[in-house]
Amino acid sequence: MNLNIRVAVLFLTIVLSTSGCTFNVHKHMGGLPVEENRIEPTCTEDGSYDSVVYCVDDGVEISREHIILPSLGHDLVDHQGKEATYEEDGYLPYATCSRCDYTTYQTIPKKQ
Ligand SMILES: [Zn+2]
Ligand SMILES: [Zn+2]
Repeated sequence: MNLNIRVAVLFLTIVLSTSGCTFNVHKHMGGLPVEENRIEPTCTEDGSYDSVVYCVDDGVEISREHIILPSLGHDLVDHQGKEATYEEDGYLPYATCSRCDYTTYQTIPKKQ
């Protein structure tokens, strides 16, 4: 009697675990990675984005990788200098960045 019940419970457990819940059986299928939270890098600061893979069947997030986009460095443009005169300040040859306000501009005081 006791044994029969235990066998019945065991049998029921096996049936439930194999056929009951498809969620446990489902194997996620990763789609193509998508970019999220993208921050563009600037001359001096790194950017980043998350590369996220979702299951194509149910949209569950499978993996998320944080990718760093290295800072670009200044895009320098050279400029010629100008001699100081008695009337006007001059400036040394200098470089500016085409993307930001960075400059190496330095004035030369006018001649005395
Ligand atoms: Zn899935
Ligand atoms: Zn710059």
